[in-house]
This record gives sequence, C-alpha cells and structure tokens, in this order.
Amino acid sequence: MNIHEYQAKQLFRDFAVPVPQGDVATSSEQARRVAQGLTSPGWVVKAQIHAGARGKAGGVKVARSLDEVKDFSAAMLGTRLVTHQTDSKGLPVNSVWIEEASSIKNEFYLSLLVDRETERLIFIASAAGGMDIEAVAAETPEKIVRVPVHPAAGPQPYQCRQIAATLGLGKDQQSQLQNIMAGLYELFLAKDCSQIEINPLIATEDGQLLALDAKINFDDNAVALHPDIAAMRDAAQEDAKEAEAKQFDLNYITLGGNIGCMVNGAGLAMATMDMVKLKGGAPANFLDVGGGTNKDKVKEAFKLILSDGCIKAVLVNIFGGIVKCDVIAAGILAAVEEMHLTIPVVVRLEGTNVEQGLALLKNSGLGLVTAEDLNDAAEQAVKLAVGDGSSPSPTLPPFLEVGGGGSLPPVALPPSLEVGK
Ligand code: GDP
Ligand code: MN
Repeated sequence: MNIHEYQAKQLFRDFAVPVPQGDVATSSEQARRVAQGLTSPGWVVKAQIHAGARGKAGGVKVARSLDEVKDFSAAMLGTRLVTHQTDSKGLPVNSVWIEEASSIKNEFYLSLLVDRETERLIFIASAAGGMDIEAVAAETPEKIVRVPVHPAAGPQPYQCRQIAATLGLGKDQQSQLQNIMAGLYELFLAKDCSQIEINPLIATEDGQLLALDAKINFDDNAVALHPDIAAMRDAAQEDAKEAEAKQFDLNYITLGGNIGCMVNGAGLAMATMDMVKLKGGAPANFLDVGGGTNKDKVKEAFKLILSDGCIKAVLVNIFGGIVKCDVIAAGILAAVEEMHLTIPVVVRLEGTNVEQGLALLKNSGLGLVTAEDLNDAAEQAVKLAVGDGSSPSPTLPPFLEVGGGGSLPPVALPPSLEVGK
C-alpha cells in the first residue's frame, strides 16, 4: 500500500526524522492559511499523488508570496497530474502539501528496503540525489552504496559512517545521519513497511539534513495490523478496479491485453498468463479468486473482468480442490446469464466434481466453450480473442518500479533559496 508524501512526513516526524515544517490543504484558501502560519521567505506547494517525478511535471512549485501559494494550489487542486511514473490519465490532485522552502546545498538519495538477495533490510544511498535513481544505477552504479543491516544488530555506527563518507558529510552531519537512519529503521519495523525512500534528502545551507521528499510503501499483508496506516489509504489514487477487487478479497492487477483471466491460486494464474502469451495472446489482467472461492466471488470476478472494455475473450482456469467444480460452474453460469454476455468464454475445470461442473456448463445452452486442459484452453481463448484480427501487446503496470525522484525545472529564486550546487 502507498501513502501520500504528507502522511509519510507525519510518520517521519513521529520517528524523529527531520522534515520541513508544513501542512496539508484541500483548498487554495486553506493552502494560503497554512503558508501564513509558517515562517519562511518562501513556500513550496506540492501536489499530493501516489507517484513521483512530480517536480518535472509541474507538481512542485516554489512560491514567493502568499498569493502565489494560493494561485499554485488552485491550479493544481482538482486536476489530474501526469508524470512519467503515472499512466497517461495521471492521478487526481485532491490535496496539496505546503511547506517552508529550504535553501538546498546538496541533494542526496537515501532509501531503506527489503533486499531479497541478502535477506536483510538494506540502506541504499547516493550523492546523486534528486534524480532518477534508476538512471544513476544504470549509468553510474559506482555512485550508489548499498549497506545491508544485520537483523539482530540494527544499523551500526560504522555503517552510518560508510554512508556519510559516500555522501561527503562532515562530522556534525554524520551524527544527524545516524539519527535519521535509526529513525527510518525503527519506522520500517514498527509499521511493516516494504520500502522507504527519501529523494532528495538535503543538506541545507546552514548544515541541516532534511527529508525534502518522503515515499513509503507498506506490506499489504501487514496493513491490517496497523489501523493508523490502514486509515491512510486513499482509494482515489488506486486503480478503480484493483480497489474494487480488494473489497471482495480478490487479487486483481490490470494488464494491457484483451483476454480476461479468472484463475484460483497465484501460481496457477501466473502459469495461465504464461500460457496465453505462449499461444500468442495477451492477458488483460491477473486475477486470483483465491482458494476458498464461492459463487458470489466468481460473479464479482466476472463483473470485474468484463468492466474492462477491451476484453475479447474470457479464460477461466479453475482447479477445484477445496471448492468444488460444480459450485464454480454455477457461479460462472449465474454471472454469464445475469450479464447477458456476448463475448466468448473458455472454461477449463479440473478437480473435485469436475464431471458435474462440466455437465452444468455444457447443458446450459449459453454457448460456453469447455477445454480439455490448460494448453487447449489457452489456444482456444487466443483464437477467439483474435477473431477481429488484432491482438494488442500489453503494457505492464509499473508495480515493480522503485520510485524515482525528479528535479524541478529551473525557477528564479531569491538568493537565499537558490539551489546551491
Ligand atoms: P518528486 O519530483 O515527485 O520526486 O518531488 P520532490 O519532492 O522530490 O521535489 C522535486 C524537486 O523539487 C526536488 O528534487 C528539489 O530539487 C525541488 N524542491 C522541493 N522542495 C524544495 C525547496 O524547499 N526548495 C527548493 N529550492 N527546491 C525544492
Ligand atoms: Mn522526489
């Protein structure tokens, strides 16, 4: 689960990770009032969306008067912001974060995440902050330092020194960094995070380290343990279908193809998508209806798949273990009947009561295609989907992306705010 920058900064405060003074606003009037309550020669207005690279897309603006704060906020609120980390529709800006502008001396990158290779939490740091960390990793990997933390020991002073040296910090800043790393580590464990990213972490002209940006992801499977985190969820920032799926306890991810897939079990779902690709088709989604599924869940799953206008065929691949095949078949029939389905549906059932299930489907008179096995099912679905001769190649969602930063287009600032590089 993702949260907004303003929420992440609140958590940073709770764990003594320093952030600029600021507050969130949902109207331009409120934004002006927030700025009025802050002491600064300038303010930064930041669009709150669940994506990075806002700076380059006009979602981060430095204001030099209260009227500018109001105007910038008014221009952002109610719009959709498209950045290179969103899709072409962008994400809705329903709130802005107003903070005291900082005089930046250096921009660094600091993150903490789970490293599957070392099976540890790992700090990643770079002196090349404020930029796309993926680009730094690709072009100048030597500028990135990776420091795995032993779970029994926690972050050690020598590890902080190692990162401080990479960032070129002095003695005083080194102890600030040590506190920041300790705070991040504590926050990560306390709230079951999966990733914390600060890009940029800055050194101000007067030597303070501050988290200028804040991005936190949480382990979805642990969010239920943290009501305070669960309450931070903003469904408006999520894929509408993925959010709807969550309500019904379905694991759904939108992909770009035209074959809707309904499968039970994540492994079987992956295998089904592979098979569709192998046969030259493109899955429209990943959908795991879960092990203990029932008729209603199957119906909801069908609705979800079909709400995607691009679907040309549906492939159902269910193994009836705990849940029996005839129950699944009844769910499929109820959904198909209720929705007056016109697009082809290919069903492969296997497992408990498979004969009864298949008989129900065949005798329904609804024109469902039943398949011998997964190979056959995928082949038939792909054939039926390309009935119109086109098969778009899917664009995968950036759900594996490590959020990157982005720096602002140059703005004319008073000398005190100049980005000192
Ligand atoms: P992102 O583009 O979504 O990652 O948003 P960030 O919060 O990282 O802001 C983008 C860039 O805006 C930063 O890298 C900074 O260069 C710039 N920026 C943000 N806050 C300030 C500020 O208080 N003062 C100045 N001078 N620049 C800022
Ligand atoms: Mn950033």
